[in-house]
Amino acid sequence: MDTNWMARGNCATQHPDTFFPSDGVGVEAAKRVCEGCPVQERCLEYALRNRIDHGVWGGCSERQRRRILRARRLEAAA
Ligand code: SF4
Repeated sequence: MDTNWMARGNCATQHPDTFFPSDGVGVEAAKRVCEGCPVQERCLEYALRNRIDHGVWGGCSERQRRRILRARRLEAAA
């Protein structure tokens, strides 16, 4: 799977720990870095397709990604 897009993300120069926060404040800080990221959609889709449970990806928290996946499952089942 192509992951070259990761180098173009706003987070490319950030410490990776920023995107694996331990509390809500950290989640919001990570999401702010994602705002306006040129590869945000691709990043989110990568996390969803690979079922990445931890961290902030594509501007979405773990909880938000679980909701998206659930909505997709329900949509597919309908
Ligand atoms: S959306 Fe966020 S986590 Fe994904 S590449 Fe951009 S800055 Fe990094």
